[in-house]
Order: sequence, then structure tokens, then C-alpha cells
Amino acid sequence: MFYQPRLLHRIYAWTRGRFWIPCPICKRGFGEHEWNDGHELWLTERDSVAVCPHCGDRAAEMNSESGLPGDAPFV
Ligand SMILES: [Zn+2]
Repeated sequence: MFYQPRLLHRIYAWTRGRFWIPCPICKRGFGEHEWNDGHELWLTERDSVAVCPHCGDRAAEMNSESGLPGDAPFV
């Protein structure tokens, strides 16, 4: 499954120069190669942070609750 083994994913990310960050929701580390497009949590109208694949649905819920990123036209 997704969370096993974390260490190999971490090495994979590190050796390829990909990001490795803690998920802002579940706090578990995940790599850029595991990140899915659109899996992000919006903090303000301009800033979002990537969440792990496991938390993509939860992030979408939180975004709809917060109303972010809203209609602000940042292109
Ligand atoms: Zn997560």
C-alpha cells in the first residue's frame, strides 16, 4: 500500500531531487513522485501546499469549506 515502505520512497525522492515534505493533514512524509495533480490544500487565496495522496479527498473537503482559493484571478 501507499505508506509502505516510506524509507524507499524517501530515498527515491532524495536521489532524484524531488521534494519530500510532511503532509499538512496527516503529518506523514511523502514524495513529489507520489503527489497527484490537484492534491493541495489552500492556505490563502495565493498559497497552497501539497498533501499526500491519502489526504487528497480530505483537502478537497477543507478547500470547499474554506472557499479557497476563491475567484481571485492569479494567473
Ligand atoms: Zn496526508
